[in-house]
Amino acid sequence: MKTSDTSPNPRKARSRFRALGILCAISALTLSACATQLDRPPVDAAAVLEEGQEVERIRVATQLERMSRVWAVGDRIRIAGTDLCGDRTAYDFGLRVTSRETLFEDSDNPPREIGLGSGVRVWDARAEVQALGIRRNVRIVEIDHVRIHELADYQKAIKTAQLQPSLTLGFEDDDGFRRETLSGVMACDYAVSLNSDPEINAFADGSNVFVNAGMIRFVESDDELAIVIGHEIAHNVLGHPTQRKAQIAVGAVFDVAIAVLTGIGTNTFSMLGAGAFSEGQESDSDYMGLYLAARAGYRVEAAPSFWHRMGAETHDRASDTMLRSHPSNSRRAAAMRAAIREIESKRFNHQPLLPEGSETVAANASRRPNR
Ligand SMILES: [Zn+2]
Repeated sequence: MKTSDTSPNPRKARSRFRALGILCAISALTLSACATQLDRPPVDAAAVLEEGQEVERIRVATQLERMSRVWAVGDRIRIAGTDLCGDRTAYDFGLRVTSRETLFEDSDNPPREIGLGSGVRVWDARAEVQALGIRRNVRIVEIDHVRIHELADYQKAIKTAQLQPSLTLGFEDDDGFRRETLSGVMACDYAVSLNSDPEINAFADGSNVFVNAGMIRFVESDDELAIVIGHEIAHNVLGHPTQRKAQIAVGAVFDVAIAVLTGIGTNTFSMLGAGAFSEGQESDSDYMGLYLAARAGYRVEAAPSFWHRMGAETHDRASDTMLRSHPSNSRRAAAMRAAIREIESKRFNHQPLLPEGSETVAANASRRPNR
């Protein structure tokens, strides 16, 4: 194809390229050394470092934004679902904390400024906590007079504090140190957090719920996120992770894929038995998860289209024999519509939003060890 992109002096340019070619050929250099012929402006090492810090800043800002979203939706569901969680409940104080040391623990080029100082810092807090002056970047130094140095200290202290209806928080801001008493709200005692994995998935391990970064990117609304988190909390409430034969600490929307990854068992069938939740367990979690999302005020009408999109996304894997124990996405969507009709009817008749048969579940949950 003829182009108009020609050099102003083609003969001179040609001879320069030929000379360069000969130079390359006679030198002992490899071809790759001659691959770059353009005279680009020099790159400053300090500038590269700065760009790297910008990438890190964006990575952490995105992570914090996703964490906030998972926490917010998770909190609403955990609090509204208290009646369904038996005695697996604890007080929640509306504090969401992090530390720059944890956020950048794998980084060799952390940015200097992300709006968080060192030590354990508040990232998010419920409105009533913020009203006490406990806002973003406030440093937590004590919980019930126990000194807090790093995130692990905080996690340990809050676990104990959650058994009582109030806690005394010691914190530092620009005005110095002070203490405030926080009142707890009853919530299901299943921490909901973010996992950095890009796969479209979420997990329940009996005590926690993890939502993958890939799932956060996939969901189109907080209503869809609530359906995912509700489903995983339901696995925990229903005791599915502990019921599994091999006691593998994973469960998932696509639990079987995880069974392959963990490689437990000596053949396909033992892997299936050990790693996957049964079809009945998945359907029960779908059903109860929908109630959990509905109780928290999320639009459960989003569920069928969510499962359609999941079905389309995982079309290749749906034909895999490994997925036979799993309800198909279309079956799931149909079951969801039936459950949505049931929820609507209960709302219309002013009946409590409790899934059918959940009384026995709460009783069973009470018999399980608490932590
Ligand atoms: Zn599941």
